[in-house]
Amino acid sequence: MKIGVIGGGQLGRMLALAGTPLGMSFAFLDPAPDACAQALGEHIRADYDDKDHLRRLADEVDLVTFEFESVPAETVAFLSQFVPVYPSAESLRIARDRWFEKSMFKNLGIPTPDFADIQSQADLDAAVASIGLPAVLKTRTLGYDGKGQKLLRKPADVSNAFAELGSVPCLLEGFVPFTGEVSLIAVRGRDGETCFYPLVHNSHESGILRLSVASSNHPLQALAEDYVGRVLAKLDYVGVLAFEFFEVDGGLKANEIAPRVHNSGHWTIEGAECSQFENHLRAVAGLPLGSTAKLGESAMLNFIGDVPPVEKVIAIEDCHLHHYGKAFKVGRKVGHATLRCPDRSTLDRQITAVESLIRHS
Ligand code: AMP
Repeated sequence: MKIGVIGGGQLGRMLALAGTPLGMSFAFLDPAPDACAQALGEHIRADYDDKDHLRRLADEVDLVTFEFESVPAETVAFLSQFVPVYPSAESLRIARDRWFEKSMFKNLGIPTPDFADIQSQADLDAAVASIGLPAVLKTRTLGYDGKGQKLLRKPADVSNAFAELGSVPCLLEGFVPFTGEVSLIAVRGRDGETCFYPLVHNSHESGILRLSVASSNHPLQALAEDYVGRVLAKLDYVGVLAFEFFEVDGGLKANEIAPRVHNSGHWTIEGAECSQFENHLRAVAGLPLGSTAKLGESAMLNFIGDVPPVEKVIAIEDCHLHHYGKAFKVGRKVGHATLRCPDRSTLDRQITAVESLIRHS
């Protein structure tokens, strides 16, 4: 089976690493000449709205999937005429726009911060008057890694905020005084079979995910599964979906969903029976899903900007290096380490060892 992937970054690369042993082959459509997935499959170098190359991709593959959600809606609609596309155009439409996403949470009874659609500075002034400060202003689309958002603490932060984010459609959200951030990675097959990985605790630095630790018997696991299950059913979703929550007052508030494999699920490569990448491929290909059970204690640390010396990373016991083969760039995710340890105290020690390498490299 040949899989077409829109986007050829590290998520595409790790999909191919998981799918190749299943007998799958891959074609990546990505305009970047140095798309790092090209080491693992065919690289169709073209813009995401280039119909000739989209048609070529559709003709070559059995189905198409995505490694990012900001794919133009017309691209998905065009491809869908010729080849099955998973997740569906509707799932992408909702997940790529914070207004549609939060409105869906509200309609499904899933707690989420107060929010308002912002089309102008006047809308923003009115929304701040009703939601209050502090609040977070976010562009409705295209935000990632903390980009496209602004924390509004005091009235002076509000006066020019709409223009500062580019005068594009935005969402204002009440600030959530969270005690932690967690994500749930779920997978749903074409037949509706659904599995969930254990909840993951996430820590960010400058808006970028730094550390994910998989939990054991998290008290909010069942609640998170209930909320995520509602979204999966509503969207008749196929593939892996990541759902990010704030932990607050002993409960959960929905932050956002990603209709794809997710950075906070990378620990599953070595830390779970079947990784998020393999399970995504199984789901979209109509194959039986694999077990999401955790193997020991597991965590993932991102390498941002640069990868520490390979020999030092792999010298740490229980540590698995994933180097994306990308050039150094400030703020760019260039690799990660997965830790899989027999117990929690060993895991904490090995996290400290990797963090120390990152600080000193
Ligand atoms: P997002 O791109 O929406 O995931 O936001 C990036 C990060 O900003 C989150 O992981 C939180 O740490 C923080 N953040 C986003 N929205 C809020 C909010 N409404 N209240 C408090 N912190 C937030």
